[in-house]
Amino acid sequence: MKSRRNFLRNSTFGIIGAGLSSFKAFENEAEDIKPILNKASNPWLEISKKAYLSNVESIYKFSGNTPVLAVLKNNAYGIGDIQVATILDESPFLSGIALVKDTRCLALRKHGVKKPILLMGDFDLGLGSELVANNITLSAFSHESCRKIKELASKTQHRVSVELYFDTGLGRMGMPYQNNLDWVADLASIPNVKIEGLFSTLTTPTDFAKEQMERFNGLISKLNEKGIKPNRQHMAPSLSLMELPQSHFNAVRPGILVHGSYPLGGMDFKDKMPLQPTYRLKAPVIRIEKLKKGDTIGFSRFYKVEKDEWIATLPVGWADGYYSGAENGAKVLLNNKLFKVVNVNASHCNLSIGNEKLVDVGDVATLIGPDHEEITPEGFSRAASGHNYLQIQYKESLPKSVVNDF
Ligand SMILES: *Cc1c(COP(=O)(O)O)cnc(C)c1O
Repeated sequence: MKSRRNFLRNSTFGIIGAGLSSFKAFENEAEDIKPILNKASNPWLEISKKAYLSNVESIYKFSGNTPVLAVLKNNAYGIGDIQVATILDESPFLSGIALVKDTRCLALRKHGVKKPILLMGDFDLGLGSELVANNITLSAFSHESCRKIKELASKTQHRVSVELYFDTGLGRMGMPYQNNLDWVADLASIPNVKIEGLFSTLTTPTDFAKEQMERFNGLISKLNEKGIKPNRQHMAPSLSLMELPQSHFNAVRPGILVHGSYPLGGMDFKDKMPLQPTYRLKAPVIRIEKLKKGDTIGFSRFYKVEKDEWIATLPVGWADGYYSGAENGAKVLLNNKLFKVVNVNASHCNLSIGNEKLVDVGDVATLIGPDHEEITPEGFSRAASGHNYLQIQYKESLPKSVVNDF
């Protein structure tokens, strides 16, 4: 047993090292694979309940009091789907959560999330009974998915909730809008299948998005003629809901806005739809050394020290999901000052501190957060020449801590 634990420690949490003795690392076997919050030697995400709740309210109001269906796919864009869903479960402005993996829908339910959950992706028939027992709404997005839904419905006593997923032009998922609608009538005729909604996804060029909305409205009329009147209709991801008020239907379906960033850099919506960054990425200084003129940092000798300067090391890098482009000009907040990131490797990054030793080992840096314009997700993306969806890369292994407010 001991050797297995040691193996896990060394492989997964190699950098914890000697610090382990000071706290209880693993309560039981299941804990072995959970990220551990050890602020002395590891990076972590600090997640604000208040910011999430306030963003959802802001999106709801901006959209003319339209309920929000929050897209928490990809581990809630890297922030932690269980943590974020648990927070949003309390929001009166949220009508549900949308995901793309069947197993994550079940994981949220296991952690007590109560809001309606829509699976916008495929499902494993082997998980079918568990999905419907947990009241997960499935998507009918292809003939094959309809076949599976019918098979599931024939085997379960539960009600099978379904939303009709149409492709109106994104060309990626959904039943092509031109198809005849016999497949819908077929599903609707099954006694324990309940068609709860229909949805599609808008593209970004507004002219084409308008065309897509016409196609969608056409579908609604045709379904109505057949006596099928799904309650919920939704099309709009973040950018569309901001640009096209007609796209709101009776639910909006944002991802990135929920996490506090606008989809594109430089969008002036601060008054119309104020959002707050919802998290901080933090890491302690684990080394501070004065490097000499001519010294270099990194495998590729990326940074050259022009004159003697103090260099701090943080135990976070691109393997944790910190964007490596940060070394092209991003800054980090540490002891109330901004310092330049001068090197990003897989598990470490370095900061130029200057000719005075202004920081110590153990001081905690905020790499991303609401505390300064240059380190907000948007400010960071600008400095690092990235896009606003960068946090999506954060690894599940980053420990998380949920706080009420920043
Ligand atoms: C990702 C996704 C969204 C949310 O996109 P954002 O640009 O983050 O708002 C909405 N709908 C579907 C189908 C998606 O896949």
